[in-house]
Amino acid sequence: MALIVHKYGGTSVGSPERIKNVAKRVAKARAEGHDIVVVVSAMSGETNRLVALAHEMQEHPDPRELDVVLSTGEQVTIGLLAMALKDIGVDAKSYTGWQVALKTDTSHTKARIESIDDEKMRADLAEGKVVIVAGFQGISSEGNISTLGRGGSDTSAVALAAALKADECQIYTDVDGVYTTDPRVVPEARRMDTVTFEEMIELASLGSKVLQIRSVEFAGKYKVRLRVLSSLQDGGNGTLITFEEDDNMERAAVTGIAFDKNQARINVRGVPDKPGVAYQILGAVADANIEVDMIIQNVGSEGTTDFSFTVPRGDYRQTIEILSKLQDSIGAAAIDGDDTVCKVSAVGLGMRSHVGVAAKIFRTLAEEGINIQMISTSEIKVSVLIDEKYMELATRVLHKAFDLG
Ligand code: ASP
Ligand code: MG
Repeated sequence: MALIVHKYGGTSVGSPERIKNVAKRVAKARAEGHDIVVVVSAMSGETNRLVALAHEMQEHPDPRELDVVLSTGEQVTIGLLAMALKDIGVDAKSYTGWQVALKTDTSHTKARIESIDDEKMRADLAEGKVVIVAGFQGISSEGNISTLGRGGSDTSAVALAAALKADECQIYTDVDGVYTTDPRVVPEARRMDTVTFEEMIELASLGSKVLQIRSVEFAGKYKVRLRVLSSLQDGGNGTLITFEEDDNMERAAVTGIAFDKNQARINVRGVPDKPGVAYQILGAVADANIEVDMIIQNVGSEGTTDFSFTVPRGDYRQTIEILSKLQDSIGAAAIDGDDTVCKVSAVGLGMRSHVGVAAKIFRTLAEEGINIQMISTSEIKVSVLIDEKYMELATRVLHKAFDLG
């Protein structure tokens, strides 16, 4: 008998029928003798609907009140799931985030979890109840309702699993695991039985939408055994996120290809090539809370240089505005950019021991006539920035070049 946390996303609880199916799945696990804590999202589309409603009231909704509104979606699904379980004879009890004292900091709409009180949940489990907890929400240190950022129910589930020292955290979703790339783009994409935690962190941060990145970070920090499974089909072991690299197996150089359209490139042209320029440019961007990702500074000639970097696409206009105001004081000849770019990345722990992975990526893209605008590398990933119209082509040819199908 184990203690297992199940998490069901919006699609999995998207209709009364689907909620009843979730109840059956939970009942089955319970009948096998396991203690079950269930975390649910809002019904699919519900959080978007609530966000839109809030924007009808205020152009920039008040963050505290926005969280009051957003947290209601999950409150509906926990109650409905508890009813569905009772209806098939399984004792269950639902809790909102504040009721289980999932405490967070005060940054509304993107709060971070600080602590969880597991006492009530343990008492219910001891009485044989299934415990159902609303994902995505908590209570701030000031006593206000908070939410954890879009996709945050994954993080709720992992955090509860960590607090309860659960044997496994199972994320049930509309795909049956983690794939070598998005199967909607590359039909040959393959489900992985296991993926290492380090690779999953990279895949999540580079555009794979299967898990919210913070949930993966949490799993790493607290060593939570995490598994991604399908809620729509029966059977299958999904993908287990592992902490050990199995060194008796010859690792492939690359395990997955990720892509991300949420990118824009900014160019600051003809700036004086002298100390402090990068700080002047990027300092101003950081002060506006805009996240900079890839950065390139060319070797200057005749005392000037070109400086380029990427920001999330939603911050493109604001970044151009900020730098245009500073253009004279920086001494830049021109400021421009492009918000029709995307980032394609190859990820794999095996890169550490294989030379030439980057060269192979560049050759593969060159053969398709795809121009690389920027490159960034780490020990286990190579990313390139390219025109977004080549995103799917680049993903397909790289998936093939590294034999991932
Ligand atoms: N309902 C929230 C959202 O749509 C949280 C989640 O589903 O994980 O982002
Ligand atoms: Mg999700």
